[in-house]
Amino acid sequence: MQPEGPTQPSRDELPRTKPSVATSKSNNPLIVASSVAVIAVLFTADVLTPRGVTPTIGYCVVPLLAVQTGRRRFIVGMTGLCTVLTWVVHFLEPPGAPAWMSLVERSIVTGVLWFSFVLVWQRMNAQNELARQAQVLADLNRELRRSNQELDAFASIASHDIRGPLATTGMLANLVASRLAGKTDQDCAQWLSLIQSEIQRMHSIVENLLEYSRFDADRLGVVDCECEAILATVLDGLKADLTANSAQVTHDPLPRVKGDPMQLAVLLQNLIGNAVKYRSEAQPKIHLSAAAEQDGWRFSVEDNGLGIDPADAERIFRLFERGEGSKTTTGSGIGLATCKKIVELHGGRIWVESARGRGSTFHFTIADPYSSSSAISSAAKKGNEQAKNATASSGSSSPP
Ligand code: ADP
Repeated sequence: MQPEGPTQPSRDELPRTKPSVATSKSNNPLIVASSVAVIAVLFTADVLTPRGVTPTIGYCVVPLLAVQTGRRRFIVGMTGLCTVLTWVVHFLEPPGAPAWMSLVERSIVTGVLWFSFVLVWQRMNAQNELARQAQVLADLNRELRRSNQELDAFASIASHDIRGPLATTGMLANLVASRLAGKTDQDCAQWLSLIQSEIQRMHSIVENLLEYSRFDADRLGVVDCECEAILATVLDGLKADLTANSAQVTHDPLPRVKGDPMQLAVLLQNLIGNAVKYRSEAQPKIHLSAAAEQDGWRFSVEDNGLGIDPADAERIFRLFERGEGSKTTTGSGIGLATCKKIVELHGGRIWVESARGRGSTFHFTIADPYSSSSAISSAAKKGNEQAKNATASSGSSSPP
């Protein structure tokens, strides 16, 4: 059984029940009273003014007031009442001026009144639709969070349960291998070593899956993090790999952000580790930079490796998905899904810009309330271009 990654719900999964519209309906007596008062005043003015339809143009205010209640019947009722009153006065007018004048003027007033009604009605429909969509979005978010939590719980339990039998199988395979050492034919020895390496692979998948499931909002230990210090630790951990590949890692000044240092370290470790793993024939050169954005920082990890087919650019961030270029390397397809999860827990997003054979640049954002205050942040803001000094894990420190 292969668990699926946390994917966006498809259109078909949208809730089929009509969500409750969030627009509020109010019986605010003040609004009702003001609508009635406006009508009363204008009606009186219309009656008292000889041959004067002019005040009735003020009836247009009534739909604007009535819409505040959010009650459709009230809006229609008030607009209808204004129309009736406009025409009632036509018959109360004393004889004198030609009747056609009153007819024309009252028709104009009625037209303008219903025009403002239509505008108000459309606006209310648009607001209702917006509220409905917000409600659908909130429902979907809740559902997505719940299914993600379920997936994490599943991954955690499944990984724990698989661990035991896997360890036993690995131990038995080692015992068989040592007992049969030198006593079997070449094929048999090859199969045994294949079994051992597959068990090892399975073990690393289970460990990665466990690590993936451990990252959740409840365990996010947010503190001030010096990204350069985190990077130094990560590079230290990757030293053997970097040296074996003669990889060169450089970086611009990195800021201080608010986040979970352990998770940020895993994030950088996965991205830098992948940059080395998916290297091209050329010496691996990896460059990290950070740019200030309105509400945080955008980090970039650039490499000169194999590159990624643009068609794979979104897929590779899903659990167990691997790119086309990964056929010759071992892996479980969990690393980038973990990166995505970490970044999203930090209120950011992650994406890649790449083309096959042209290297890749992974970008991710981290929301940072301290971005404008810290000294190192200002240095990073100003100095991304000039201050390309570097910390290299191995080899020279010049940026690519
Ligand atoms: P894994 O490395 O175990 O396959 P990841 O989730 O870390 O899993 O990566 C998913 C896929 O993304 C990889 O299989 C690979 O095809 C692609 N990929 C990730 N990082 C890079 C990179 N820096 N350069 C080229 N391809 C990459």
